[in-house]
Amino acid sequence: MNKKTVEDVDVQGKKVLVRVDFNVPLSSKDPNDDITVTDDTRIRAALPTLHYLLDRGAALILCSHLGRPKSPADRQFAMDPVAARLSEILDRPVLKMDEVVGDEVTAVAATLQPGQIMLLENTRFEPGEKKNDPALSAQLAVLADVYVDDAFGSAHRAHASTEGVAQVMRAEGKPVVAGFLMEKELAALGTAVANPPHPYVAIMGGAKISDKIKLIENLLDKADVILIGGGMANTFLRAKGYETGTSLVEEDALPEAARLLETAGDRLALPIDLVVADKFAADALAEIVPVEHIGANKMALDIGPATLDLFRQKLQGAKLVVWNGPMGVFEFDRFAAGTNQLAEILAEQASQGTQVIIGGGDSAAAVKKAGLADKMSHISTGGGASLELLEGKTLPGIAVLDEA
Ligand code: ADP
Ligand code: MG
Repeated sequence: MNKKTVEDVDVQGKKVLVRVDFNVPLSSKDPNDDITVTDDTRIRAALPTLHYLLDRGAALILCSHLGRPKSPADRQFAMDPVAARLSEILDRPVLKMDEVVGDEVTAVAATLQPGQIMLLENTRFEPGEKKNDPALSAQLAVLADVYVDDAFGSAHRAHASTEGVAQVMRAEGKPVVAGFLMEKELAALGTAVANPPHPYVAIMGGAKISDKIKLIENLLDKADVILIGGGMANTFLRAKGYETGTSLVEEDALPEAARLLETAGDRLALPIDLVVADKFAADALAEIVPVEHIGANKMALDIGPATLDLFRQKLQGAKLVVWNGPMGVFEFDRFAAGTNQLAEILAEQASQGTQVIIGGGDSAAAVKKAGLADKMSHISTGGGASLELLEGKTLPGIAVLDEA
């Protein structure tokens, strides 16, 4: 996954189409409201690439999807609040277009000067975006001389603004390269997939095992040990014959869980104690029990302290740790200790030189909530994309970029 980046192209006087991830949270779903961006992290994440290109005399044409509009009539997903925020941050005007492609976009793009920034309308307002429609890709491709992909979180989808336009521009001999954010993701996750240092410990959690069976399988190939917590641990525990009470268990996945347990042998570590409750609620009474005593009317909502000790031991000396999926229902304070304390252990390890990579939307949120985000080596910005990459899949938005 050695890809060319913005540093490999001359952009002076060029028009550069940058696919960014400006899929930010908004203040309202009502198109009649004065909608604002409530968290501009993703806009700020694109700044290194945008500044680099602007400083070197490029004219920027930016595009992104935003939310899940069903049609352009869903004005609550228009890019205007994003344009306003971006303009504020960059302290420069941002020309916000009311369409993704079309005569006006083409005309304005043609007159764009170095240092100017144009933001296209929500790419998902075009029905051709998700269909990867060649006609839409071609209309986007004529706008620019260079394509930069800085939207790692969308790289697992072959859409017109990710894979399609890049394919067309490549065929026309135009450079098709990664932005800095994309480069950072590829460096961190690419190492874990291609040539991980050992010992390599993977930690898996989250709600469901069915989403992550392929990931666990691939990790079993690459990692030395896999620690399992969260809801998915219950399915493994049931597959081993434990009484799991009213815990989240995926009956359909029991055969797969049993198969994985058999393949993994002692490389897969399950919880030895759990925090259980009698209901799924923030105010439920928490009780620590060994896995043998979950109880018929109790549900496991977090890993227990003995499990944390076990995981701490297994993590000793690791050179690489990849963590995906919270250890418990961290949204409820009473069941957040397992996730928070694991985050602390990993922050400590990262400070001693272990490469600690966090993948997955909820895991990233949990680490941020624990205030430990800047202690980790890398927190992936792409939920689905990082999982697919770790599964060993080739992501279409990455495959299409020029090889270095
Ligand atoms: P990620 O987004 O990091 O990949 P997932 O989406 O797979 O993680 O899982 C996150 C969710 O798993 C959280 O909402 C959390 O509440 C839930 N979860 C964790 N442990 C349990 C459990 N024991 N029972 C039910 N839900 C759980
Ligand atoms: Mg999630």
